[in-house]
Amino acid sequence: MNAYPNLSHPSQRWCGINYGVVCPNFPCKHTECTDPDWLEACEEAIEKPEEHERAWHIYLALAKDPFSIVKKQLRPEELALYKPRVERYHRIMTNYPKIKQELRESWARQQLQTMEDEDELLNDESLRGDPDVEALREEKIKASLRRVKL
Ligand SMILES: [Zn+2]
Repeated sequence: MNAYPNLSHPSQRWCGINYGVVCPNFPCKHTECTDPDWLEACEEAIEKPEEHERAWHIYLALAKDPFSIVKKQLRPEELALYKPRVERYHRIMTNYPKIKQELRESWARQQLQTMEDEDELLNDESLRGDPDVEALREEKIKASLRRVKL
């Protein structure tokens, strides 16, 4: 079974904007960050946004004060639910410099890929006159004019 049914969905992937074809495996070389804790947290953010957010708030409260009242306010079943998530956040924050670096490199690659994909679309003669492609062309011209002004 796929451990990341939401993250691996084509709508969440960065394998290519052009043809909607995604790599058969997940994570793939286009995945923003392959840290397993990070991936689990991102998957959970889509799957169970409320739990995900609550776990983050509990983590923050306990990071600030390990004896925070937050812990005492949790019912035993809530404690069981949130403890592994809070521990995961702790690992994510411990590894954050590495995660951040991976994300930065990935975003730079995505930007480059988007530019290459857009150029390919704009240079495709068969797509000339396509409203989406023409809108993209106009957008790119405007963007380059803005850069000239700066
Ligand atoms: Zn890919």
